[in-house]
Amino acid sequence: MEPAQRLLFGPDRLCSSRKMTSISQTKELFRRADAVCFDVDSTVIKEEGIDELAKFCGVGDACTEITRKAMGGSLTFKTALTERLSIIRCSREQVNKLITDHPPQLTPGIRELVDDLHQRNIKVFLVSGGFRCIVEHVATQLNIPLQHVYANRLKFYFNGEYAGFDESQPTAESGGKGKVINLLKEQYGFKTVVMIGDGATDLEACPPASAFIGFGGNVTRPQVKERCSWYVTSFGELLKELEKI
Ligand SMILES: [Mg+2]
Repeated sequence: MEPAQRLLFGPDRLCSSRKMTSISQTKELFRRADAVCFDVDSTVIKEEGIDELAKFCGVGDACTEITRKAMGGSLTFKTALTERLSIIRCSREQVNKLITDHPPQLTPGIRELVDDLHQRNIKVFLVSGGFRCIVEHVATQLNIPLQHVYANRLKFYFNGEYAGFDESQPTAESGGKGKVINLLKEQYGFKTVVMIGDGATDLEACPPASAFIGFGGNVTRPQVKERCSWYVTSFGELLKELEKI
């Protein structure tokens, strides 16, 4: 091993110098993970839940513009969420109808991967900046317990009209996914937690995540792709890695 590589081998360096971290280290951490946290939008499912909700409520274009700004980093996560929801103002009935008429589309291979992780007794969590009512539907399809779902909660008045969202959820803030991972480590005593996702907020959750795997099966985000040591475009690649054990 070259001296420069040796320097980067300590576990504390895995995330702070992602690009330099070897792919084999990330793979090893994935194989021996205590828990795997998946982002949901554009990772576990093919679409962005909030964009689908906006389209369904007839305000798709206005929301896409704010999503774009948020991803470019010119808005905080909470501001972007507040702004989009104040345009969408979905009722409980509209959300239910969206789930019935346009259920979230699972990304090919996710079911097999989650089943395999469960069989190996690796805990699976969904950590999403999207909405709990939609993410719970996804969790149920994948046999993920609902207490393993971390997402934002929409609030409704008694008559079903939009009443805001629960701002106290960790996932409502920038850096929220990292907070959830710290919480999981405390609550369950996990040592190795791997985060998998397509977006910048997923990458930023490492650390505290032990490793990050970039997922480009639905969308490619160049700034994520460049900064992670292991980037996959299908869940089959992850399944193949597990089968090496
Ligand atoms: Mg995503």
